[in-house]
Amino acid sequence: MPYDDKYWQKEEILPRKELEEIQLKRFRWVVRHAYDNVPFYRRRFREAGVHPDDVRRLEDLAKLPFTTKEDLRENYPFGLFAVPKEKLVRVHTSSGTSGKPKVVGYTARDLENWVNLCARCLYMVGLREKDVFQNMVSYTMFTGGLGMHYGAERIGAMVVPSGTGNTKRQIEYMLDFGTTAIHCTPSYALHIKEVAEGMEIDPKEIGLRIGCFGAEPWSESTRKKLEDAFGLKAFDSYGLSEMNGPGVAFECEEQNGLHVWIDHYIVEIVDPETGEPLSDGEKGELVLTPLTKEALPLIRYRTGDITFVMDDECSCGRTHPKIHRILGRADDMIIVRGINVFPSQIEHVLMSIPEVGDNYQVVITRKGALDEITVRVEVKDEFFTGELSDIERLRKKIQDRLREELGLRTNVELVEKGTLERFEGKARRVVDMRKEL
Ligand SMILES: [Zn+2]
Repeated sequence: MPYDDKYWQKEEILPRKELEEIQLKRFRWVVRHAYDNVPFYRRRFREAGVHPDDVRRLEDLAKLPFTTKEDLRENYPFGLFAVPKEKLVRVHTSSGTSGKPKVVGYTARDLENWVNLCARCLYMVGLREKDVFQNMVSYTMFTGGLGMHYGAERIGAMVVPSGTGNTKRQIEYMLDFGTTAIHCTPSYALHIKEVAEGMEIDPKEIGLRIGCFGAEPWSESTRKKLEDAFGLKAFDSYGLSEMNGPGVAFECEEQNGLHVWIDHYIVEIVDPETGEPLSDGEKGELVLTPLTKEALPLIRYRTGDITFVMDDECSCGRTHPKIHRILGRADDMIIVRGINVFPSQIEHVLMSIPEVGDNYQVVITRKGALDEITVRVEVKDEFFTGELSDIERLRKKIQDRLREELGLRTNVELVEKGTLERFEGKARRVVDMRKEL
């Protein structure tokens, strides 16, 4: 049952001071829980010369060691779990680019907390009992599917668990079932738009009201594109399996930053190179400590995601701080001729140029000692005149805008619509050939 017609739970609007009291109590619990039940943490704490008794204030967090993705992999499958296997009611995995997956687990209470966090997010963007929620992400080991599925169900919306793939069928479901809300990656939503148009359906006719988009970084210009095409409001979703899954942070009606639920997670931003804590407003790597997880109490988990804390008051009335939409991944950050480049910056430039289609690819090569960055861009059919001078003018325009944004010279290659590979899950837009040498 919702708290009222605007908030799913009353914790969303508790005064910050009260939230911090809850945080401190839970923080001390989770540190003790990890230390008592996970030999890995007992060893790590000893090596760092800290003990749970040293943890008295929230500031003491900085004394504790980090946990990394490698720690999870090295302790595959259940080595970091703090409860015996019979207490687990579900596991998920999170795939990486190489090696063993990371395994995450849940007790019954963990699942209950997670469902409510997802429900908070969906209720925040206006999902209600009357809505039809089409969940177009993978339902298997990936947390995005079941996480949002149960969140929407808890609110009482009708859930269409259509998963990924078969885009024409997805569009038919939307039209026939009266879908009002969708959840998928932003690149898949752009693909749906293309397929709908190919079926001679105006995406606006579908009648979507709410779009929840996550699992890959996207830009303001993509938001505008999605909102204009479907006539919906597009919201950014953030989560990761190691922190339950989706439901860690989500945009509210302001669409300016994502509220992080700090009664369940402590947020820190650190320098990705040195691990030194940074202050509000400074860009760095997001580090999260879950406060209520029984099965997998990860202390100071390095997410690898780059963002910053926006400590503004929010007009929606929620008292939880906001983080900026993810700017990129610490590991995706490409260093080209000594300059840090995030693929999201390139996307932002491309999506703001009307002639550019929805697909692009970034290829990085090395010629001798020099890195070369080539951006391959699909041009919309209506702008593909075949006139060489038009093509050259557009190419130059894209190159100039990219130079302004990145501070780098790039090669721009224009290709016809339909040339580049399409993705139904997370898009792989960057090909770094330097790594393959
Ligand atoms: Zn808000």
